[in-house]
Amino acid sequence: MRHLLSIADLDRDDIERILERAESFAEVSERDIKKVPALRGRTVVNLFYEASTRTSSSFELAAKRLSADVVTVKSAGSSVDKGESLKDTVQTLSAYDPAALVIRSPHAGAADLVARWTRASVINAGDGKHEHPTQALLDVATLRQRLGALDGRRIWIVGDVLHSRVARSNILAFRTMGAEVTVCGPPTLIPPGIEALGCDVAYTLDRLAEADVVYALRMQLERMREAYVPSLREYAAQYQIDGARLGPEQVLMHPGPVNRGVELSGDVIDSPQATITAQVEAGVVVRMAVLYELLVGGPRAPEPAPEPAEAAA
Ligand code: ASP
Repeated sequence: MRHLLSIADLDRDDIERILERAESFAEVSERDIKKVPALRGRTVVNLFYEASTRTSSSFELAAKRLSADVVTVKSAGSSVDKGESLKDTVQTLSAYDPAALVIRSPHAGAADLVARWTRASVINAGDGKHEHPTQALLDVATLRQRLGALDGRRIWIVGDVLHSRVARSNILAFRTMGAEVTVCGPPTLIPPGIEALGCDVAYTLDRLAEADVVYALRMQLERMREAYVPSLREYAAQYQIDGARLGPEQVLMHPGPVNRGVELSGDVIDSPQATITAQVEAGVVVRMAVLYELLVGGPRAPEPAPEPAEAAA
């Protein structure tokens, strides 16, 4: 596999293999010296045209833990558009001969374009409301840690599905891993035809108790150019996941950043059911595994991670 642009690029075996490798990297993350030499001498460029805390920091850490040289270029809030200027930037950065280029952009389809302009392996770190494949992988990894296999598990994805790249990637990944997915939100925030991705649709939380996992989405206010809900207060009254709505056995997920008091109440964010911190932890090892998959090896057994003494050799 050369690029990771969409979760649809991966079948179940690919996902299993990446997650197994991520598990082997979890051991590295527990060491004092959190490094293996897999990408020594190779360069990873992170190009972020949109705000990011978790994704950019974890891609940077992941590449560093694999001993790559890392350059992170951030241009949040820039007016760079999909045309020439992105192409120029990619060509400029390609002059460093990077092995991988990680791209986040507010434009759907940007990662596919970048893959045509560089010899590097391209990883989509979120392109507009289209896809965020490494988020989906880290979410599957987190759930497998909590629940084991996802076959037959019922996962409800609640909130602003319309503007969410996480929803799109996660529906595909959860379905591929055997789960049943329902998306839920106000009709204005559910894209028409979303059932084609293999999920059910609900417009109220009345049946939320059916879910094994409740995956809340952020209200993506930065992508809303009109009013999709009468007010955030009214949205919260009908769709906020709070202590009264979340059952004691249900797992609660959120990709971050959370709008406290909008999609989630403060008490559930801090409850033991919430996996929000575990998702962030999984982000580093899953992104290590994705970089490894693309740059070192595809379908073969995970290599044992060497001890720090060997790594330094
Ligand atoms: N961090 C996720 C993303 O980049 C989710 C969010 O921003 O709401 O898509």
